[in-house]
Amino acid sequence: MKLRVHPLLPAMLVAATALTAAPLRAQDRARYLEPARQILREVPLIDGHNDLPWEVRTSFGFSLDSANIGQAQPRLMTDIPRLRAGLVGGQFWSTYTPSAFEGRGAARAGMEQVDIVHRLVAKYPETFELARTADDVVRIHRAGKIASLNGLEGGHMIENSLAVLRDFSRLGVNYLTLTHSRNTAWADAATDSMIHRGLTPFGEEVVREMNWLGMLVDLSHTSDSTMWDVLRVTQAPVIYSHSSSRHFTPHPRNVPDDILQAVAKNGGVVMVNYVTSFIYRPAYDHGQRQDAYQRSLRQRGLDSNAVRDSMRVWNQQNPAPRPDLNVVVDHIEYIRDVAGVDHVGLGSDLDGIDETPVGLEDVSTYPALVAELLKRGWRADDVKKVVGLNVLRVMRQAEAVAARLQRERGPSTAQIEVLDGWTTSPPWTGPVR
Ligand SMILES: [Zn+2]
Repeated sequence: MKLRVHPLLPAMLVAATALTAAPLRAQDRARYLEPARQILREVPLIDGHNDLPWEVRTSFGFSLDSANIGQAQPRLMTDIPRLRAGLVGGQFWSTYTPSAFEGRGAARAGMEQVDIVHRLVAKYPETFELARTADDVVRIHRAGKIASLNGLEGGHMIENSLAVLRDFSRLGVNYLTLTHSRNTAWADAATDSMIHRGLTPFGEEVVREMNWLGMLVDLSHTSDSTMWDVLRVTQAPVIYSHSSSRHFTPHPRNVPDDILQAVAKNGGVVMVNYVTSFIYRPAYDHGQRQDAYQRSLRQRGLDSNAVRDSMRVWNQQNPAPRPDLNVVVDHIEYIRDVAGVDHVGLGSDLDGIDETPVGLEDVSTYPALVAELLKRGWRADDVKKVVGLNVLRVMRQAEAVAARLQRERGPSTAQIEVLDGWTTSPPWTGPVR
């Protein structure tokens, strides 16, 4: 009997291999889990961005009793049992508020977010401790606790005032993300139309004052021209608290190669995020189609309820493609190749995103990510840099720059320039009482 080869056999074989390859890869990785955990016991894993405070505000009415992260909290990606399973050593809690708060009590909202972090640390003193410096992070990790850092996400929260910036520093804010999704009165954002061509003169003064304070300048969410302006002005290394590489998708939230190289010269660190539509081309393309469909609904004059209902149907019919954790590791390796292993870190954005790569669903999964690096042949010393030592180095350098600048000058009294078309209040010029 003559065997007849099915015309689709080669394709079927490829499909069958793909089906078995993923579990095999995961099994393979499991062998590296214990060595990964050992590294995270030695060196604090510091994640650059977690949006738990915003979730506490919006999903639990500001209440830590309701959020109850002392036990498993399935509505969140973050709780204490999973932080412990993930061997997290340091966390920059994002104290985020949306750009829409600009001119509507943004500083107050920011202070409320910082207050959530302070209350979190006070509620669970056996788990968390506030960290102001790199040495604090190392000491807290050695004591078996999670160093808690504050990252103010959105320059609108300083309300165009260096005094407010300094007040946030006094509250323990360790970094400021210069913009969120929209421009501020002094810096352009990645996802808004360009109005300042980067930083205004006051924006440059904000960066200089952050250097003076030892507050890290976070360039995630900023436009390319803002990134270039900051890299020209800053005396301290910068961070990207949650950004990936533009090599894989053209999303403006990612960092292009020439800026990666400039960040390497600056001594900074790009902390890779998990946002699937930023890091994975099929998910990026899906996001573009989703946006186009939503725009077409609005152009047809549908009200917001009708748009929401139509989008729900569209999303059911067009599920977003989902990568696995290998995509995040690809970004880490790419940034290592372009900028160097001293300039890449982790900034998951967990609890700030709806969808994660498979295998990175919550804060318990960091050992799996580290295991994949080891499986790919990474040396333990390089892994330690990525998980935490790079950002500790940046913090130490920023602290040294601040100490030098504070010997050289006092705090800045600069006021924002008055800009046409901005609803910001102009500097006070009336009588001083
Ligand atoms: Zn963000």
